[in-house]
This record gives sequence, structure tokens and C-alpha cells, in this order.
Amino acid sequence: MLQDGSWGRYHGPHCDRLRDALAEFHDVEHVILCSSGTVAVELALRSVKVQPGDEVVLAAYDYKANFANVLMLQATPVLVDTQPGVPVLDPDQLQQALTDKTKAIVCSHLHGCFADMAAIRAVAAERSVPVIEDACQAAGGRLTGKVAGSIGDVGVLSFGGSKLLTAGRGGAVLTNDATLAQRIRLYSQRGNDAYPLSEMQSAVLLPQLRQLAERTQVRLLRVRQLLNTLPEDSPLKPALLPHPAENVDDVPAFYKVAFRYEPKKTDGRSREEFAAQARQNGVALDPAFPTLHKTHSQRRFRAVGELSNASALHEELMILHHPVLLQSADHIDALVAALQR
Ligand SMILES: *Cc1c(COP(=O)(O)O)cnc(C)c1O
Repeated sequence: MLQDGSWGRYHGPHCDRLRDALAEFHDVEHVILCSSGTVAVELALRSVKVQPGDEVVLAAYDYKANFANVLMLQATPVLVDTQPGVPVLDPDQLQQALTDKTKAIVCSHLHGCFADMAAIRAVAAERSVPVIEDACQAAGGRLTGKVAGSIGDVGVLSFGGSKLLTAGRGGAVLTNDATLAQRIRLYSQRGNDAYPLSEMQSAVLLPQLRQLAERTQVRLLRVRQLLNTLPEDSPLKPALLPHPAENVDDVPAFYKVAFRYEPKKTDGRSREEFAAQARQNGVALDPAFPTLHKTHSQRRFRAVGELSNASALHEELMILHHPVLLQSADHIDALVAALQR
């Protein structure tokens, strides 16, 4: 890449190769590379023609930028509760959220948990509402045999920061719908690509993609070990559904591992204190991000019901960061010992 100067090209072989490799890996027709996961969500919303005054349904506990993207398009976020104890949209509460104005449902696979795509798609199909699948945290995961990001009408990946596939920045939109793909290409084209992924970024991502399936398996193994060795009296209760050991058709991808924190089991230490102490002991544990309905003005969204499950996650959820999951089994034992301390 250095010798042939391709790193400096606007259109070159590395982006072409990455596009093809992502299409093959996810078994989708169209891949649009772009500059971030946040932009990828925006492009997905634009592809299904979300316009001012429309409504977009998403979980009350979801990534902040997804909410912000809906507002940016002057549409109204409609917040649905999560499943009890896990940070994914509850399909049983989806029906009530849909109105004549609903233009899209955004569902994210968060913190090692898969949204129930089959149930969500079934409700969406009845009303012909497109589903945008945010797989930014789930690259390489598999649900009922399909790769995460390939199950909704439009799928979204991030290659940002510390994500499971990373070039520091970057993203992609995946779809089998030629019309949606063409809309995204037209929107992104301003005589020049407005949201480009560079040749250099693509070159960095290609080898990671080749290793992804194997790494996903290693991470899953380590999570199983962690769950099996975490003592009963630990204040951390796994927030996973389904339990990854029990469902062989699903291969969860762990960008984060989610736990619910029970302060009763630590003589009332706060979640923030516990995380700080865990970090001092070398464990990359953090309080999870807050829920959308507690951090935005109520004028900004419409809530469906009480959102009590999402409110509980807002108080209780903690996340373990993924790098330790590619370490040896001994590291997991050391991690559990550190958490007990
Ligand atoms: C990281 C992330 C995004 C945004 O991706 P960026 O590349 O950081 O813009 C969107 N959704 C989810 C669930 C994410 O975790």
C-alpha cells in the first residue's frame, strides 16, 4: 500500500476489497462504506425516507447517537421499553408504539445481547415498517445462523474507537435492497464522497475481518468461563439473554459484557464506587451509559408506557470491556478473583 501509493487514492483497491469481503461475510448484496457508525445510522434512516414529522421507534435504552439522528431529521423518537433485565427492545411492547407516522424501527444489539429480530420483524412486517438493525456492537455475531447486521432491512456497522472491527473511525451500511442502497449512494455523492472511508482504514480492517469469526468464538468461550466461575454472592449478575451456553444457534458478539449490579451484596457500595475499585484492581468495568428517557427533555420524545425496565437498567447496568476476552483462560480466573476482592 505504501509502495504503490494506493493509501492516498480517493477510490482504490482496498475499499473495493473491503466492500466485497463485508458483502460476502454478511451475505448481503450491497455495502456502503462510510465515515462512522453514527453517519451509517443517519444514512439508514435517510434510505427509508424518514422525514420531518415522522416517527421512529427505538428502545428507551439505546445508543445516544441513534436518538440524536432521529431528532436531526426532525422526526420524533418513540421510546419503547426494553426486555426485563437486558438492554434490548421488547418486541411485546412494539405494537403499541406503531402509528400511521411510523417510518422505521431502530433496534440495537447492545452489550452482548441480541435484539429479538424474528419477533421485531414479525410486528414490523404486519405494518410494512422497515427495520434498521444497529450491529455496531455485534460485528461477527450470529442469530439463528445469520450474521448480525444482515437481518434487518438495513444493517449498520461501526469501525470506530475500540469496536470489534476498528480503524479508529469508520462505518458501513448493509442491505439487500437495491433501491435503499442507491438512495444512500446518491445522498452521499456530492460530486465527491461526503462520508468517505479511506483506503488506509480499509487496509487496516481487512485482516481483522478475516480473523473475526475465530475471535468471536474465543470471546464467547471466555464469557462462558466467566459466567461459570462468577460466585453466587457476586454483586454482578449477568444481564444476558439468552444465556450464551444454552442457545447453540446464536453466537453472541461481545463488545461489552453486561451485568446488573446489586449494591446489597457489597454493604451498599454504589455502582460508581464498585467500578472505580474494580478498575484499581485492573478490571475494565464501567457503569453502562444512561437510558434515553432520563437524559433528554420529555418534549423531545414520545414514551410508550412506563419504561420501567429501561429505568432499572439506568440504575443497575455495568459493562466489562472486551479486550480481556481475547486473553488466556487464566486471565479470566484472575479477573474473577479481582472482582471478589
Ligand atoms: C459505537 C456505536 C454507534 C456509533 O458508531 P461510531 O462509529 O462511534 O459513530 C452506534 N450505535 C451503537 C450501538 C454503537 O455502539
